[in-house]
Amino acid sequence: MKMKLKLRHKNSTMKQDEVKSDKIFQKTTEKIDPDLVIDVINVTKKYNLGDYTVAALDNVNLQIKKGELVAVVGPSGSGKTTLINCLGALDFPNSGKIIYNIDGKGFGSDITKMKDKEHKEMRLHRIGLIFQFYNLFPILTAYENVELPMLLGGKSREESKERVELLLNMVGLGERMHHRPTQLSGGEQQRVTVARSLANEPLILLADEPTGELDTETSSQIIEIFLELKEAGQSILFVSHNRRIVETADRVITITDGKIVGDHEGKKSLSEIWDD
Ligand code: ADP
Ligand code: MG
Repeated sequence: MKMKLKLRHKNSTMKQDEVKSDKIFQKTTEKIDPDLVIDVINVTKKYNLGDYTVAALDNVNLQIKKGELVAVVGPSGSGKTTLINCLGALDFPNSGKIIYNIDGKGFGSDITKMKDKEHKEMRLHRIGLIFQFYNLFPILTAYENVELPMLLGGKSREESKERVELLLNMVGLGERMHHRPTQLSGGEQQRVTVARSLANEPLILLADEPTGELDTETSSQIIEIFLELKEAGQSILFVSHNRRIVETADRVITITDGKIVGDHEGKKSLSEIWDD
């Protein structure tokens, strides 16, 4: 699956509409190292279960560099989904900061301080989300599923066409783009969600167990796409409880009982992880 991928606009200077949309983050401005995409500072998330409290995230600190492929591994119930949901503005911590490098140049904004309007902007334009169970619209074709976030973001169907086709070709579905999800295999559906998550050029892809439902070969196809995206400069954080798959990432974070207990280099090739 070789591709020439243009993830960002050619122009390195910001487009006028991006500058305008960054203004909505003015009230939540925070400092961030320009080389980071996200800086997670002392984040705690507790759930109350009657008179019992679970710390799903317990004082987590995590810095994700631009263009890094980071994997998060840990046993069931360790807080991996809670971390993705908090980074993805789907759930909110009780304390701490989650600072995004909004313009890529060090203009930081803390999602824990944002209002609904900013969260909506984050989810539509800045964060690409991928879940275990695909979450595609069954009545839309692969093409229409990928196109939808661009239309919601204000592009016309004509303006979207080139990128929708590029993304679906990139994930190897050029021939099947007018199929509906029920006409595609699990692995193909997950590749559609990867294309969809990239629709609006997000700062980061957040994927929660993207290979959880897939066999070894189709899991490898997803990981291969992640590796190619990383080469093209895309920042990615994915969760897995597969201790082999995570080793393909640049960096592997281990989480247990809501705490980061390990952080090591991965960088293994797909053949290395499946061969031993
Ligand atoms: P993982 O994704 O690693 O399996 P989760 O982030 O889903 O773990 O869960 C971490 C902990 O938080 C678990 O103990 C889980 O039971 C608890 N938890 C998660 N979501 C909720 C919720 N909505 N209400 C109560 N407890 C929750
Ligand atoms: Mg989970």
